[in-house]
Amino acid sequence: MTTRRQFLHSSALAIAATALDWRALLAAGASPRQPDLLTLVRGTVGTFTGRGGTIGWHIDAKSVVVVDSQFPATAQTCLDAVNARTQSRTIDYLVNTHHHGDHTGGNGVFRPAARKILAHANVPRLQREAAERAVAAARNAPPPAPGAPPAPAPVPPDQQVYADTLFQSTWREPVGDEVMSLKYYGAAHTGGDAVITFEKANVVHAGDLIFNRRQPVIDRPGGSSIAGWATVLEGILADHPADTIYIFGHAGANFPATGNRADLLVQRDYLTALLEYVRGEIKAGKPREVIVKVTEPLKGFPDHGPLTERVLGSAFDELTA
Ligand SMILES: [Zn+2]
Repeated sequence: MTTRRQFLHSSALAIAATALDWRALLAAGASPRQPDLLTLVRGTVGTFTGRGGTIGWHIDAKSVVVVDSQFPATAQTCLDAVNARTQSRTIDYLVNTHHHGDHTGGNGVFRPAARKILAHANVPRLQREAAERAVAAARNAPPPAPGAPPAPAPVPPDQQVYADTLFQSTWREPVGDEVMSLKYYGAAHTGGDAVITFEKANVVHAGDLIFNRRQPVIDRPGGSSIAGWATVLEGILADHPADTIYIFGHAGANFPATGNRADLLVQRDYLTALLEYVRGEIKAGKPREVIVKVTEPLKGFPDHGPLTERVLGSAFDELTA
């Protein structure tokens, strides 16, 4: 027989349990369901596109890897999305494909969540030097025009967050049920580009070695070599099977941030054609200031859009160095 006391006790438990369920439901419903910001590429590997270089990720039951960190604001959005997927497990590796600010600017956001930040051995030096140049340039810049917003202040060298785990030529380690390998093929987009292969998924993060159908950034102070870049792309193709999917650092407005070996060949051919074109202009006796003013697309590459002074100037400087 149930006494009144027992009845009250079990009723109170039932009400408490119901209240807990209700609170849990309310909590789940109170935050509007975030759209899934993580796009699956294949297997356990996918992308996040916010602002800056495309972020790659690998998530399985035992491991979490993030490749590149964009800028602080989008890094936080990406980290939140990864944490939602992993119940905030520790990130085994944040990898930096290279030192540029649109790939490393969010390192500080990922730092507390990541066991290690992995990059090519040249990356911390290149990152520090780029920060020094940016601070000097900001110091020497003319004041903004009246009414114009001030340019954002560069992040000084001592406030940059640097990779703490470095590799020279190759690096390979299991991450959960996946195997991640990194390789440095030589100077290309910068002097420290890592190519990251998720072997089982057969997906490669190629960083800024691919600007899919848009004018590339060529960073001579950061160690770029246009000729080397074309050769590096051939090396990557030789190392990977025909059905590898590649993640690109950047893409033109109407082009995807992932693709296949045909896209790498387009990037190689673009770089080769750029050097050929500028070499011809130099041979024709044109001075630098004339050569860099051309704004038509490079012949045969209309998708890349108009040539720019920076791209042409970099090609000129490489050919005349
Ligand atoms: Zn870059």
